[in-house]
Formats: sequence, C-alpha cells, structure tokens
Amino acid sequence: MKLAARVSQVTPSLTLAISAKAKAMKADGIDVCSFSAGEPDFDTPDHIKAAAKAALDAGKTRYGPAAGEPRLREAIAQKLQNDNSLCYGAENIIVTNGGKQSLFNLMLALIDPGDEVLIPAPYWLSYPEMVKLAEGTPVILPTTAETGLRATADQIRQAVTPKTKLLILNSPSNPTGMVYTPDEIQAIADVVVEKNLWVVADEIYEKILYDGATHLSIGAAGPEIYERTITSSGFAKTYAMTGWRIGYLAGPPPIIQAVTTIQGHSTSNVCTFAQYGAIAAYEGSQDCVQQMVSAFAQRRQFILNAVNTIPGLSCPKPDGAFYVFINISKTGMKSLDFCSTLLESHQVAAIPGVAFGADDHIRLSYATDMDSIKKGMERLATFVQSL
Ligand code: GLU
Repeated sequence: MKLAARVSQVTPSLTLAISAKAKAMKADGIDVCSFSAGEPDFDTPDHIKAAAKAALDAGKTRYGPAAGEPRLREAIAQKLQNDNSLCYGAENIIVTNGGKQSLFNLMLALIDPGDEVLIPAPYWLSYPEMVKLAEGTPVILPTTAETGLRATADQIRQAVTPKTKLLILNSPSNPTGMVYTPDEIQAIADVVVEKNLWVVADEIYEKILYDGATHLSIGAAGPEIYERTITSSGFAKTYAMTGWRIGYLAGPPPIIQAVTTIQGHSTSNVCTFAQYGAIAAYEGSQDCVQQMVSAFAQRRQFILNAVNTIPGLSCPKPDGAFYVFINISKTGMKSLDFCSTLLESHQVAAIPGVAFGADDHIRLSYATDMDSIKKGMERLATFVQSL
C-alpha cells in the first residue's frame, strides 16, 4: 500500500509507545518502574469529577460550539488575565482536545509549505513532527549545559531567515524542566518583534515550579509581542486530567478563528460534559494544585539526590515540570540502546533523549509514586554499575 508522503517523514511518538509498553508489561504481571510518560499519578480532584458528572446528569451530552463552551472560554480568559497578565476575552480562546491538538491545529493554521519554524533543543518530541505534517521545515536550535539547555535571544536572532515564521517556546520545558527567566523571555520577545515572527508559548507546565522560580508569559512582555503571541496550555498536567483531553489556545482572534475552522472540520467540540469539569478546575479552589506540586517537589529532590550518587550520570537541577534530563554520555551508550537495555534487564522504563534531539540524555518523569521512584532509582544504579 502506498501511504501519503507526509506520513512517511514522521516518527511515531516514543513517549506514547514506551509508556504503552510499560503498561502492557505491568498488565502481564511484570514489576516495571515506569518513568516514561509525563502523566501525574494522582486522580483528578473530586470537585472536578463532580462537576463533570453533574453536567452529564444535566444533559450536557450534545454537540457544542467548535471553539468550546462559552463559560469555559470565559473562565480561561479570566485565568489568563489573573495569573498571566494576558488581556483576553472569550473571542481570543479556543478549547481543544489537549495541548497536542492546540499545537497541531495551530501549525495547520499558520504554516505554509517551506515556512521555517525555530525549535530550541532539547524539545518535546511532537513539535518537529507537527511542523512536518504541516509541510513546514523544523529548524532545530541546539543548546548546551552552559546556557542551562535554553536557547539565547542571540541564537534565535542568528537562526532567522526570510522563511522563518514561528518560534516554539516551551517553558517550563519538557524534557529538561528548565525555566526561562523573565529577562530571557523579554530578550526573546524583543527578537520576535524585531524580526516580525510569531511565537507560540507552550505553557502547559506553568504551575509546576520549584525553589521560587517565576514564570513570565511571553505574551505579557509588552504590547507588540502580545500581538505576535499564541499561548498554548491545558488542564492535563496541572489538574491530573491527562485522559480528559482538554487544552486551549489563546491569541489574536483571526488565528483563533482559523483554528476553529480547522477544528470544525476535524473534531468539532471537545467532549461537552468534560468541559464542565475544566470550568470547575479553574473556578474552584487551587489547593489541589499546591498539594500535587508539593508532592512533585519532594520526589524531585529525592530523584536528584539519587542520580547524583550514581557515578557516570549527571543531571542539571530542573526548576519546573516533572522531568529530570540525565546526561548518560559517560556510559558510552546511545540513549535508545541505554533505555531498551534498562527496560529489558532491570524493568525500568525511561524515554531516550534521541526523541527530544539529545541522544546523550535520557528523560525520567517523576510524576509517579515515591515507592516506584525509590525502587526504580536503585535499579538504575545497579544497571549503570553493571556497564
Ligand atoms: N506530553 C507527555 C510526555 O511528554 C505525554 C506523552 C505525549 O503526549 O508525548 O510524556
């Protein structure tokens, strides 16, 4: 069978593949410690589930507007004003089936064949593939430990060509956990404005911050950058709602309308009653977020201490998200080989850095319970010592 050319250039998602493999091994009775997908192990908070159940009972079971329930769009706009100093109304918001659909639909709406999209590496593995599916050209900007695995404003400026359309900025970062400082965000905003680009800010981890790190939304860095920013976020990571599939985009109305047109011909609205759970997430108490972030903070400290006692491994201290990005170059192994041997021989699931554009690293998600973390780190130590 001859498939379309566009799909042959795209690599299947390794995060999804490895986490599915780990779940299947567990279902077969194998004692796997999975650090694979970035998926909080907590259950969705009760008040959010109750709101969705009440909406289901109230008959919120029908098609809704493709851009989302008006009340949810209002709640998102309010949240962006309060938390992010982004001045938006409901007309600036589209509700999507997760952050992934937000970004994918945005690529379809913005990218023409041959347009270049700047992607700092290490990057979340779906960014380049989405750009390719939209027939754009991903331009990868490699970073090093010297700049904290973050792209600099100068580096971005130098990478701009007449074909550059968009910058993808992800802070806090998946896979590194690095957070751009407000000064760095401001300097990058200046380049985006100077070079007449667009920027999409993937802020899905914005609430998961440690040690006093602060998050500045690039769209709030001035009136000119506000006009050139699309903010992408969602409920999955902050409220343990990964399976609900609710994300959103916020930005200038013409872009939101274009994305709504695409969504109107692809998925239509996000599950109607699920959107009522999302309203409760934003309008209800935020204590649940604090509790989850405190648990992540303890796990982060434990996992960092553990990695730093394993000779041959090193890891920068992440300021956000729930990942550690471990340098394995001293082991002499490439990341795919390292991860597949680790899984087969010691039943520890990790994601190879090659998927994120950094083959001398592996990513561990610590959005899992402490017992699994303790056991998994012992196994990782034994594995590395055996090399
Ligand atoms: N974004 C999460 C991760 O990187 C979930 C899996 C995925 O969608 O890639 O692990």
